[in-house]
Amino acid sequence: MTTLVTHIARLVTNDPSLGDGTPLGLIQDAAVVIDGDRVAWVGETSKAPATDNRVDAEGRAGLPGFVDSHSHLVFAGDRTAEFNARMSGRPYSAGGIRTTVAATRAATDAELAANLDRYLAEALRQGTTTMETKSGYGLTAADESRALRVAAARTDEVTYLGAHIVAPEYADDPGAYVDLVTGPILDACAPHARWVDVFCERGAFDGDQARAVLTAGARKGLLPRIHANQLTYGPGVQLAVELGAASADHCTHLSDEDVDALAQGDTVATLLPGAEFSTRAEWPDARRLLDAGATVALASDCNPGSSFTSSVPFCVALAVRDMGMTPDEAVWAATAGGAAALRRTDVGRISPGARADLVLLDAPSHVHLAYRPGVPLVSAVWRAGHREV
Ligand SMILES: [Zn+2]
Repeated sequence: MTTLVTHIARLVTNDPSLGDGTPLGLIQDAAVVIDGDRVAWVGETSKAPATDNRVDAEGRAGLPGFVDSHSHLVFAGDRTAEFNARMSGRPYSAGGIRTTVAATRAATDAELAANLDRYLAEALRQGTTTMETKSGYGLTAADESRALRVAAARTDEVTYLGAHIVAPEYADDPGAYVDLVTGPILDACAPHARWVDVFCERGAFDGDQARAVLTAGARKGLLPRIHANQLTYGPGVQLAVELGAASADHCTHLSDEDVDALAQGDTVATLLPGAEFSTRAEWPDARRLLDAGATVALASDCNPGSSFTSSVPFCVALAVRDMGMTPDEAVWAATAGGAAALRRTDVGRISPGARADLVLLDAPSHVHLAYRPGVPLVSAVWRAGHREV
């Protein structure tokens, strides 16, 4: 079964060999042929081949589905009171995670699954067609592995984050918890995950502990990524580049050496402006990273504590308004950048052979994602060739 989508006013392909030759590979009055779950053809509407079905985009803009490479959606409970207190003047610290750990441990499998389904559906309505998500609110072998099983039933991009914080039971002996995270908990979790992650931050895990977590995960076949340099300067970014991590996430407090390392290595700098927005923190400097030559991704960091938004368009608007990105750079970062952060070549682009993840906007250009912040512009979503919205 083939479907032709015609009259896309401006299509972002993220394939520089198509269209206008820019990184976004823009095509005017574009058409896309979807064959099964793949993109079969991309070009101008006037040159489109015949297909079984036809959909007229009527001058809407088109772009690849968002690739949200960082979220924490296997959780239970609510932290409205913490947010409310923070907006009344109390600073954010890593410790609030314990509230969600207690609620998540107390939840049933069905409750965790229903909560995850709800947020994945919410993200899909806003154009996200690939979503990474993590454990990290269980912190025992049984609770972490069940979080990963729930996630793996719903997304391919699953991350073991047993090293989110030190489990409350080990508050006085963090070394013993690192032994568990790199030993029995890892053994229980590795079969259910693709990635290993660690929160390398004051109040969570230091550089040596983070190195132990990531290298132990790698020995079990998991690929490293890291929460780095969010609240303070620290060793996380350098460790990520040294270990060849796919992504260093947050990157809010970077030294010149950190920026150079990201520019020269193949670790993606994933920026999560929802976190800075929701904690009233200093923005990461995307302009500095881009000017140095680093690859930048944008993701939601959707989690109940520090960034409870599933909206990638909102993150695009923040990145343009407050982080020095152009609209083109921000849209690339939220699609192709996210794919790079997940080492995926089949998503984040609209070109022949890619997975057919296509979003149409009720707007003539992708620039409207930043120009019209907060407006629900997503009007159609195909994921793997299925019309979902
Ligand atoms: Zn995170």
